[in-house]
Amino acid sequence: MFTKILIANRGEIACRVAATARRMGIQTVAVYSDADANAKHVVVCDEAVLIGPAPAKESYLCAERIVAAALATGAQAVHPGYGFLSENAAFAEACAAAGLVFIGPPAASMRAMGSKSAAKALMEGADVPLVPGYHGDEQDPDFLQLQADRIGYPVLLKASAGGGGKGMRVVENTADFKAALASCQREAINAFGDDQVLIEKYLERPRHIEIQVFADTHGNCVYLHERDCSVQRRHQKVLEEAPAPGMTPERRAAMGQAAVAAAKAVGYVGAGTVEFIANQDGSFYFMEMNTRLQVEHPVTEMITGTDLVAWQLQVAAGAQLPCGQGELALRGHAIEARIYAENPDKGFLPSIGTLRHLALPAAVAFEVGASGAVGTPAPVRIDAGVRTGDAISPYYDPMIAKLIVWGADRAEALARMTQALGQFHVVGLSTNIAFLQRLVAGAAFAGADLDTGLIERHGATLLPPPQAAPAAALALAAVALMDDEKPPAGSTAAGDPWSDAGGWRLNGAWRRQLAFTDAYTNRYADEQRTQVHSDAYRLRLRYHADGWDLHDGAAETRLALAARDGARLTIRLGGAAVHGSVYREGALFHVFTGGLHSMLTYQDRLAHAGAHEHAGGALTAPMPGKVVAVLASAGQQVKKGDALVIMEAMKMEHTIAAPSDGRVADVLYQVGDQVADGAPLLAFEIQAS
Ligand code: ADP
Ligand code: ADP
Ligand code: MG
Repeated sequence: MFTKILIANRGEIACRVAATARRMGIQTVAVYSDADANAKHVVVCDEAVLIGPAPAKESYLCAERIVAAALATGAQAVHPGYGFLSENAAFAEACAAAGLVFIGPPAASMRAMGSKSAAKALMEGADVPLVPGYHGDEQDPDFLQLQADRIGYPVLLKASAGGGGKGMRVVENTADFKAALASCQREAINAFGDDQVLIEKYLERPRHIEIQVFADTHGNCVYLHERDCSVQRRHQKVLEEAPAPGMTPERRAAMGQAAVAAAKAVGYVGAGTVEFIANQDGSFYFMEMNTRLQVEHPVTEMITGTDLVAWQLQVAAGAQLPCGQGELALRGHAIEARIYAENPDKGFLPSIGTLRHLALPAAVAFEVGASGAVGTPAPVRIDAGVRTGDAISPYYDPMIAKLIVWGADRAEALARMTQALGQFHVVGLSTNIAFLQRLVAGAAFAGADLDTGLIERHGATLLPPPQAAPAAALALAAVALMDDEKPPAGSTAAGDPWSDAGGWRLNGAWRRQLAFTDAYTNRYADEQRTQVHSDAYRLRLRYHADGWDLHDGAAETRLALAARDGARLTIRLGGAAVHGSVYREGALFHVFTGGLHSMLTYQDRLAHAGAHEHAGGALTAPMPGKVVAVLASAGQQVKKGDALVIMEAMKMEHTIAAPSDGRVADVLYQVGDQVADGAPLLAFEIQAS
């Protein structure tokens, strides 16, 4: 076995490979770009080598620098992860030429599968079923159009060299063919430097089902069952699960054997995935082979009780596969969700920024036994490449983490996924978490009614208009705010009733109005959503020694802080205990409760609005002082400029006047009351004209 390997990747996959290597007593070398100097993968590895500036082309895609780093650190082998150079045959050869073991298939297998067209020609010879289509070398547009006419519309044009969902065009009829072809070729040459295309019959409501295969250098090859990756957007996987719902043992064996045949046809070694597109009736066709570890490999690890990275290392070191086909387990059900820094409401645009808070669900750490066999699967596993304070940069994939759950059956896994997504708190950028929650809870996914069009078909329910903040979230924000205002125990201000903003007053109950508006991360440049409520949420609070009476405009409830541990709060709202987390960034409150993330802006300006208050609201004290006269009463109609309250502060009188014609809805203080700076004095309603 190797004693030191270099991990030619970053983020979660680099961290995940390092975890297995460490467990196996293998030293790890990280490579990193300028953008990743403090990245998690650099910290978790034993050594780290700077390989260049942030752009991947000058660092993570720079084969020579990575090989040089391996040689300089004395690593014996290179693990490429996925993405970057993982499917680059020239890189595998460069490693071999430098005397390094490339932890992956032989370069020849990668080349054979690198072109989707050539791979299909090979699969045809190996009797692996193919989607009806054309995958030859003739690329004359008229000829290709004739092929499409013969296949029958709709057809799918694919870049032969394509990947990651790029370079694909659905063509509905012959009239559209030439334009779609030209656009597909343009995208292909730009993204992959090769404009060869192939044509497939475009299947209606298909499922994406793929088989994990593993081969060693001794001629053994097994399949580790299937993964269903049908839940996609723009041909990119969003949720993956294993086993595939509805799979029969017979079909599993047939697909498994077809996948093994595909691997054997190209002399495959190591971990690989054979992707099939399947009809609802179960018939399936070869799509492509990914000659690397897949993003979604953890669901397979969970149901089979294996560590595929350990298998990769063993096979690369020349060992036999740890077990044969008959010994591979299939236990329970696993689901993976890819948590992305992206904005589902803006076409899933990546969201760039700093992870100001990252709180993960209570996960059982990924612990694997020394033999490479995982014991009982951890019910919740998180593969993350970032920590609080790390940035999601524009240079790399905006994945934050993978959340993988296991259950004895699909229902149990689903319930666990829902729970864990609700405990996944991200502050600082937009994420797809709420979208995933709706997706997982939706009837289609929950009912295993799967096909690749699921997300598009349910767009309306998956991307609903913004909802009003729940009462619990507002109460949590209010309590966090008021609790923050208390002087810390032991400070000079503690015990001094005049500087105590906590609400205690010499003479009677103290009242206050708070206003919050929906924030929807509008402070993040990439999100400009309009607010649901142009109006603020207005909370009126009456202070007591042990809490508050909360009036939200509809009803009055008793409110109290029961416990607080940093961001985590428990409050009593009416008869109920409400748990939540509140992360505050100035006036912006991120409230996580009941599985929902609400973003509320404390409208300090509303509270201080005075004469500038146009939407009505509160008239506030301009400075701390004493009420010396109350000239208006609740319910009274007043004219603009009428004196309403007179305060005395710093030995001077200040008149609080009506900002416009209107009605005094409530008078919050009496003569003699001391009021804090900014405290609302009256509730005021502007006259409807
Ligand atoms: P899968 O079939 O497992 O979803 P994809 O072909 O979509 O794999 O790509 C694998 C993953 O590799 C992507 O999800 C992405 O995270 C990563 N990846 C691919 N290309 C790049 C790249 N140029 N830079 C960074 N990450 C990449
Ligand atoms: P990539 O290399 O980008 O992963 P694939 O060939 O694996 O490309 O296809 C990606 C996705 O596109 C599939 O998972 C599926 O959703 C869709 N797709 C591919 N081929 C077809 C087809 N013939 N009919 C319908 N959908 C398809
Ligand atoms: Mg694919």
